[in-house]
Amino acid sequence: MFKSVLTCGRFHLRKPTLLEFKRFRFKKKWATKLKEKPHSSLALEHFDTFYKPVYGEAWPSIRVALMSQQKYSALVNNYSDWEESCSRLESLGAKNIIQTAQHTSVNKLLKTSKQEPDELLGAGRNVGLESEHWNLQDHAATKTKFDNTSFQPSKSNLPSKELKHSGNDLIDPLSLNPDTNLSEFMPVDKVYSEKEILKMAEVELSMFEPRDIQVSTVTSIPPTLPEELRIYAFNKGDVSTFPAPKLDSTNLVSYYLLDAASILPVIALDLHPHDSVLDLCAAPGGKTLATLQLVSADYLTCNDVSTARLRRLKEVLKWYHPHYSNIDILQRDARQMHECLYSKVLVDVPCNTDRHVVLEDENNLFKPSRVNERLELPRRQKDLLIAGIQCCKPGGSVVYSTCTLSPAQNDGVIQAVVEEIWQQSSIDIVIQDLSWMASKFRNTFKFHRNCRHGQLVLPCLTANFGPMYFSKITRIK
Ligand code: SAM
Repeated sequence: MFKSVLTCGRFHLRKPTLLEFKRFRFKKKWATKLKEKPHSSLALEHFDTFYKPVYGEAWPSIRVALMSQQKYSALVNNYSDWEESCSRLESLGAKNIIQTAQHTSVNKLLKTSKQEPDELLGAGRNVGLESEHWNLQDHAATKTKFDNTSFQPSKSNLPSKELKHSGNDLIDPLSLNPDTNLSEFMPVDKVYSEKEILKMAEVELSMFEPRDIQVSTVTSIPPTLPEELRIYAFNKGDVSTFPAPKLDSTNLVSYYLLDAASILPVIALDLHPHDSVLDLCAAPGGKTLATLQLVSADYLTCNDVSTARLRRLKEVLKWYHPHYSNIDILQRDARQMHECLYSKVLVDVPCNTDRHVVLEDENNLFKPSRVNERLELPRRQKDLLIAGIQCCKPGGSVVYSTCTLSPAQNDGVIQAVVEEIWQQSSIDIVIQDLSWMASKFRNTFKFHRNCRHGQLVLPCLTANFGPMYFSKITRIK
């Protein structure tokens, strides 16, 4: 007769209850989970694979900096009692980095660093140093349009054998009717697993192959740095931190803590009080606050697609600006925005967020279930920048920025955008040479030397800001 409890020597064996079965299953899951790599380790492995070849000998020090305490700076709120804030920050030993940059001249840098002027002035050298108010017509004339035969961006990614028909005629797979089944024409000689396909997509989207895009890079006389931007940081090597900001006598918060490199895209925009400005991806609002120190709230439009992040942006504006309700706030998918209304547009796109993903497992883009979102990033960034250019009036400028070291998401996006704009629209653009900013701010930040279309702040232990990539495009038609 079966008994639920069996006696075996001194031990009682009995049928496990349903609850115990569940417990057993739970334990097994735990064991599997323990084997899973933390998402931050996956991010680090990815960066070791894709960044090491790009940054070479500098990579180990960038890597250590990325994983160490980031350095913050204090952006003084001009609508609060700013004089009081400045003297308080100075008494802590912090320095105004705009003033430091004002005293660092490009020429001085050229002498001290023994560099050839051409090396510093970068791609703009063939256009020459020009007046700030350069003639749009002249630049339209200097550009060379694409030769369609030498440029086939998406088609060139296909292995050449896939272009072959069973006969000798060439078939272009991209010109086929979408309903056509390609296997009718191509013999399959290898079947790839889902994992292999993902790996190939990962490699393709993370590698950046620079092409000569033949867009004019123009060098203008550097604008005067805006004194109204008061941003304080501790000197190189000083890792002191700022106390949390407080409400002051004006009932507004005195300063905002942010990575000092975040103000560089705002400075690159060369803002004036009556510029009509669009901050396309604005939340949570660090760069919006910097913009508001230079531009009237009445002329600023902020947009973000995320409800939660927009809520944070509104809170920030409320704490920092007396007329925050005058700011036009939109919640739209920026890729659908094409209204050509603004003289300056900031396109601060979602990216890998390198610092976050190597330190935090929470909300980490390297979580395996978010692989598609990650692989979609360069395309999304490209579409956002194209929308930003469409929203910009001819004669106006767009600054694109990211906080990643990924060349594919930085220069790669600029290259793809220039190619698409020239091929598919009548819009005409030039890239602005920003090497003067690397010269001016060299005492505060470490810049990468080899970007093609923008400037990149590299994290380093003595000045642990960034990464921050920024590139400036002027719309001339
Ligand atoms: N500029 C902000 C700042 O300085 O605080 C940070 C912007 S963050 C890097 C990128 C933002 O883009 C996120 O807030 C995200 O919600 C927003 N975003 C992503 N896709 C978008 C889209 N299609 N349209 C509008 N905003 C988008």
